[in-house]
Amino acid sequence: MSCVSNLALDRLLVDELALPERARIERHLAACSTCRERKGAFVVEARALAPLLAAEAARAAASHRSPRRSVWAVSVVAGLAAAMCLVMVERQASDTTRVKGSAALEAVVLRGDGSQISVLPGDTLHAGERVQFRVPGASTYTLVALDENGAVSRYPTAGSIELDSAIGAERVIAVLCDRPDIDVLAAARAALHAAGGDPRRVERLGVPCPEATIWFEQRPR
Ligand SMILES: [Zn+2]
Repeated sequence: MSCVSNLALDRLLVDELALPERARIERHLAACSTCRERKGAFVVEARALAPLLAAEAARAAASHRSPRRSVWAVSVVAGLAAAMCLVMVERQASDTTRVKGSAALEAVVLRGDGSQISVLPGDTLHAGERVQFRVPGASTYTLVALDENGAVSRYPTAGSIELDSAIGAERVIAVLCDRPDIDVLAAARAALHAAGGDPRRVERLGVPCPEATIWFEQRPR
């Protein structure tokens, strides 16, 4: 799951969550140190602000104004924490593109003027752009692309491909071996299905070969 929202953290702290939601969030907190720290910060904030909020609420009740300002102060802190969480998630995502072992799948956009732009995990690419994939140091590999629309296809390992007009997330995986007994397309379909159709959630195909992967978002030009 993605990082816990501020609202969900708030509701967790005041014990307002239904059990399944609570369990889901606890599982995420167990795995995500950033969200654990955010939760800790929320607890500290809540403790520090409780007397202020109570005082402000009392004043507001006296003057019929709402205790808005203090709530905003909490939201600003929470917003910063959430932004940090996003950065952390981004980093974790890019770490997974380097595969156990040394191989990495690199993607570059080939521009009309001959220049090349490296694609970073999660980058936005556009229909009609030419992209070249390569695995430095690997001589034999298979490239398979999985997209958010459920399409699974092979990409050529030589030359470049032109992005079609499909929209959404696309993951490309390099399988670093040449074994005719491994059905890469079938493995990719199964992995996409197991990830609920979301190629961002596919980390590996699980075939008995090293893999390297990168994903990006595809948009209309
Ligand atoms: Zn998190």
